[in-house]
Amino acid sequence: MMSTPIEDVIAALKPWREQNKRRAYRPIVRPGADPRHLSRFGGAPLLLPDESWPACGQCGHPMNLLIQLDLTSLPEAKPPLNTGLLQVFYCIRTNVEANEFCDDYAPFSPCHLLRVIDEVSGVKPFTGQPPSESFPPVEIVDWEAFEDLPNGIEHDLLGLRYDYRFNRDGTKTDVHWDEGNVHFVDLPEPEGGDVASLIADSAERDKLLGWPNWIQGVEYPNCPDCEREMEYFFQIDSEDNVPHMFGDLGCGHVFFCPDHPEHLAFTWACG
Ligand SMILES: [Zn+2]
Ligand SMILES: [Zn+2]
Repeated sequence: MMSTPIEDVIAALKPWREQNKRRAYRPIVRPGADPRHLSRFGGAPLLLPDESWPACGQCGHPMNLLIQLDLTSLPEAKPPLNTGLLQVFYCIRTNVEANEFCDDYAPFSPCHLLRVIDEVSGVKPFTGQPPSESFPPVEIVDWEAFEDLPNGIEHDLLGLRYDYRFNRDGTKTDVHWDEGNVHFVDLPEPEGGDVASLIADSAERDKLLGWPNWIQGVEYPNCPDCEREMEYFFQIDSEDNVPHMFGDLGCGHVFFCPDHPEHLAFTWACG
């Protein structure tokens, strides 16, 4: 049977995919917050001694816990995120009448709080009544490894170049991987997606590590200290384990700086 042009391209770029694949992990979850599983989406956080539930730096209301991760129990260690509890708080408030617009996509927003607290320095479970808008707890009981690939938007930064020509008969695409000496010209529009996403695509839904599922563009934040591009850590997608929509089906991302563990960032983008 003759292969289609796109199948030939995918086959020729297997070495490129091998170079760029990353291991990622799907959380295996169930509803609830058993104290044996400190890693969870939503619910109540562990807090520092004498601390109350963290409030939004913009509107002053309690922020929602998006995720809490017991870093020592993760399937892969990513120093410095290999000890303590990572917590991501996020203010979901959009109240037009009160002129409160939190629910912010920008990294380092006052509506976000990301931190790692030391598990042994007297942290305690939250005991009061959680804020009314907090998300129901979903605990992470295990992780399932899979292979993740870069999103099409990111391919050119990794040496894959696309030239698109639009005309009356549809789009024609050229694909060039100079390093691997792979060149295809005048590819017709394939069935079932665009050329780039058929070559390699990043996984949607919540995941640890892997590649960001970019929606608008490549937007790694820069560390406020060393100004280097931050590294990818975790994806929180709309309406997966957290019942929240970031904009219009946006996808959220957690980043870290390997040299400055105090700098963590959360961003999201939507189409
Ligand atoms: Zn707020
Ligand atoms: Zn840094």
